[in-house]
Amino acid sequence: MSEPFAAPAARSLGPVILLGVPGAGKGTQAQRIVAHYGIPQISTGDIFRAAADTPQGRELAQYMERGELVPDRLVCAILAPRLQQPDCRQGFILDGFPRTVPQADWLLTFLAEHRMSGARGPIVVYLTVGYNDLYRRLAGRRTCPKCGRIYNDFSQPPQRPGLCDLDGAELVQRRDDDPAVIRERLISYEERTLPLIEHLRRRSCFHQIYGADPVARVTENVFWALESCRDGAA
Ligand code: AMP
Repeated sequence: MSEPFAAPAARSLGPVILLGVPGAGKGTQAQRIVAHYGIPQISTGDIFRAAADTPQGRELAQYMERGELVPDRLVCAILAPRLQQPDCRQGFILDGFPRTVPQADWLLTFLAEHRMSGARGPIVVYLTVGYNDLYRRLAGRRTCPKCGRIYNDFSQPPQRPGLCDLDGAELVQRRDDDPAVIRERLISYEERTLPLIEHLRRRSCFHQIYGADPVARVTENVFWALESCRDGAA
């Protein structure tokens, strides 16, 4: 990727919330923020998938396989200890959380209580993509099970079909990227997550960015938004 900003971050960034419909490119942009700013990406979906072999993971999977949202109290209880790990002190990127207004309120209270966000509240980056692009993006998404790199059969294919460029592992499709489940996920997004956008717009340093531009352009815009929200920025 071309680096839009030459110098790596020296100051802490604080919490960054990536919002957008499934397939808007949150995961890809999160990986780029991690590489540039050195703060961890915290994806509730990834945490839940990593717990797959535990009793709690099996409870979570029941919701996920249907494309439904996991109940708020369960999500927040799983997330709270992760946000208190030492690697979150300089900031972190939330990818896939919050997804409902109660989750957002829980988070804002948590951040205030733990003095984790700056004067303007957390940084929110809202990636928008037209619905026509989304289905293709989700249905074409492939992930490396070994290193987590994300590809897309249509827009970002690997050099050798089906194999990760970095480690040669066979790429996999997420179970919930199946067409029937995609439909449910988009419905639950409209019902539960869209109201959240307006809620957070008024309570954060909020930037809306068009996510269907070329990936490097989107990243450039995201980094610009992050820099303009840092404490002390004009
Ligand atoms: P993701 O990887 O973010 O697309 O999440 C995959 C699935 O995990 C979602 O379809 C939900 O079932 C569940 N999930 C992830 N994050 C949340 C959240 N913040 N609230 C409720 N359910 C979630």
